[in-house]
Amino acid sequence: MQEPNKSNLLIIDDDQMNREILYRHLRNLGYTSITLADSGKRGLEIVSLQPIDLILLDMMMPVMNGLEMLEILKANLEWRGIPVIIISALDEKEMMLSCIQKGAEDYLIKPYDRVLLKARVSACLDKKILHDREVLNKQKLEAAYKELAMAYYELEIVKNELEALSHRDGLTGIANRRYFDTVLEREWNSAKREKQCLSLILFDIDYFKKYNDTYGHLAGDDCLCQVATAASRVIQRPRDTIARYGGEEFAVILPDTDNSGAAFCAEKIRFEIESLNISHISSQISTNVTASLGISTITPYKEVAVAQQLIKEADLALYQAKREGRNCVKVWSNQET
Ligand code: GH3
Ligand code: MG
Ligand code: MG
Repeated sequence: MQEPNKSNLLIIDDDQMNREILYRHLRNLGYTSITLADSGKRGLEIVSLQPIDLILLDMMMPVMNGLEMLEILKANLEWRGIPVIIISALDEKEMMLSCIQKGAEDYLIKPYDRVLLKARVSACLDKKILHDREVLNKQKLEAAYKELAMAYYELEIVKNELEALSHRDGLTGIANRRYFDTVLEREWNSAKREKQCLSLILFDIDYFKKYNDTYGHLAGDDCLCQVATAASRVIQRPRDTIARYGGEEFAVILPDTDNSGAAFCAEKIRFEIESLNISHISSQISTNVTASLGISTITPYKEVAVAQQLIKEADLALYQAKREGRNCVKVWSNQET
């Protein structure tokens, strides 16, 4: 008796005697797990129900012969890795060739030599072990690739979140000064290219120092948040950007918007802030929190200017709004400075 071998063998033969002889031979060779099937149909049922490492397939069978069975096995992705040894009484070169071409691992002619049977079964099983290992490695590799792709995807999400965070002002949640600078530069260049105008609104809360002094710094922070939210409601177009410019000053970039459009937006912002009805008893111009707004519009391709000029002019207009009583909108023009 040989060392026991637990590889799963399947004998498919319509002839009971043949099945039993082969079964005995294989048992004597040490194979302990052998399943028997009396037809191709039964063989396919077994293959679909349990793991099989090698099929010993009779060629001449009624209904489905060995060649037909072989075709079905090799056409199936899951089964095509199972080696098949054809066992036939037919010693025909053409038939052998056709079996090998259709994917049979080997061909044994009945009555077969036992030594030859042993060598071929053992060689096929060795190949099957290698094949299984290859399949397992491929699966592991695919799983590792999937994990890696997932990790990249998650990293990308975190990166995007971090980038979005780096654009935000920590207190109000709107864009910060750094992002404002980036967008202004981008929109300036785009306006130049597209031959469009570009407007900027700068606005500043009136008597905010007094507000802090009266209500405390935390209430001041809350007021800044409310003002940012109210002004953001006015800004509707996807390319418009509202940012905290610094302290209690805010900026709104309005691409492809002329000064009357910008004045319309600015007036709405002024109105929204006033309508917040945030009490401000120490303001010298109102009982509520208010803001002053300055506007500048430039058409970059027509004028020799840099983006900073837009800020400078909007700031001058804002300064004028402050001078002229606050809680109002001023549009920058040469005559006014
Ligand atoms: P004006 O009407 O001329 O604009 O007067 P103002 O008092 O609003 O302007 P000023 O520049 O004198 O004071 C701005 C104040 O804004 C001073 C500062 O304490 C306050 N401030 C700036 N940033 C913040 C902030 O993040 N939180 C709070 N609570 N206050 C801030
Ligand atoms: Mg102020
Ligand atoms: Mg200020």
